[in-house]
Amino acid sequence: MEVIQSFTIDHTRLLPGIYVSRQDNGFTTFDLRITRPNHEPAVAPAAMHSMEHLMATWFRNCEAKDDVVYVGPMGCLTGMYVVMRGTYSIDDMRRLTMECLTWMLQQHEVPATQPETCGNYLLHDLPMCHWEARRYLDRLTNDFHCEYQTLQVTLEDGKIFADA
Ligand SMILES: [Zn+2]
Repeated sequence: MEVIQSFTIDHTRLLPGIYVSRQDNGFTTFDLRITRPNHEPAVAPAAMHSMEHLMATWFRNCEAKDDVVYVGPMGCLTGMYVVMRGTYSIDDMRRLTMECLTWMLQQHEVPATQPETCGNYLLHDLPMCHWEARRYLDRLTNDFHCEYQTLQVTLEDGKIFADA
């Protein structure tokens, strides 16, 4: 089986920031890494869920809304994926994300948190979402990282696979 591209990134050296996860077939997939994997607590599920609602709402209303394909959390709860149609740079996504987080910090409620509009409407935590958003915004401003450290994966036939 082919090694999935993102699994070859060395997650032990991955720092919070914004990375291009992949750019192909006319789409750019961004890795918005909020916490440092395996070194600090991941985002709590309820806070991540609120962040997803807020972030998706903002991206689907921003200047680039026509190119927004998908906004959703990673299963490991250390970051968010944003898929854009077309070619977007890390600088573009950094600016958009910082605007999004600034807006998020001004919100007093999470959109679409009724049983009709959300699959787990009680799983929300706006104060912790704000805590994470504030820290991530600070990191994007003062301690920004955007280059993956790659991991060498040895394939079954002895070849070395090192890509990101
Ligand atoms: Zn929901």
